[in-house]
Amino acid sequence: MRLTHCHVAALLLVCLAPRDCLAQDPETAAQHASLGTVIIDAGHGGKDPGAVNRWGVREKDVNLAVALLLRDYVEGESDIPVVMTRDTDMYLTLDERTELANDYVGNEAGRQPSVFVSIHCNAAANIHAVGAETYVYNTTATDRRAARVAARENLGQDFSLDFIFADMRKRAIADLTEQFAVRVQDELVAGAHVADRDVRGGPFYVLFFSAMPSVLVELGFLTNRDEQARLATVAGQRALAQAIGVAVLAFGANDLDAWQEAAGHDE
Ligand SMILES: [Zn+2]
Repeated sequence: MRLTHCHVAALLLVCLAPRDCLAQDPETAAQHASLGTVIIDAGHGGKDPGAVNRWGVREKDVNLAVALLLRDYVEGESDIPVVMTRDTDMYLTLDERTELANDYVGNEAGRQPSVFVSIHCNAAANIHAVGAETYVYNTTATDRRAARVAARENLGQDFSLDFIFADMRKRAIADLTEQFAVRVQDELVAGAHVADRDVRGGPFYVLFFSAMPSVLVELGFLTNRDEQARLATVAGQRALAQAIGVAVLAFGANDLDAWQEAAGHDE
């Protein structure tokens, strides 16, 4: 780990808040060995600004800023490799994002699963809407047979074998993914003090085709005056990034180990 003045300053700031210190104490870098790679996906970019609010704040910029701060946090607090789908203001298709992520399904030994975190901001017609929500992919088929039936019924449609395989893969890690999402959401609420809009399921492309526990975080609403002010400031962005980072490391240190032991993935 390379400690810069920024890291030291960030760590000092972190430890001014007693709750944050408590949250991180049991999870030192040495205990994070079970996570393969953290793939961080800053939503939108380049020609796609995402949501743009009346004050001119662009979602793609907030997403990238938080993504970079999250990268710095994970690299500062652990030895876990971090991969960014983008680290500049560039356009990527959803396919390109998941293809890149799927190059890092696990660590080099192939035993330690990775996680995928896609970062976004919300927008709503209701200017009073506030809060963070964490999404997992929500499928409709309930088992392998149903998936086969769906595949047959879907012949000639957009659904392909890729879809079936991705669906089965997602089902196998659904509980683990849910645990990951709950950790992220809980930390956003407790650590970054964002209103709780809960863990939700939705048909997100990047969540479906990424082959590891994947969540999509909606950090807050750019359409709300107070929330957008926080989303647009470095202090607000850092609090959100740190909350996600704490959740990622806690997930790697706790849930993933338990899951690997239960499933015999650690031989
Ligand atoms: Zn978005």
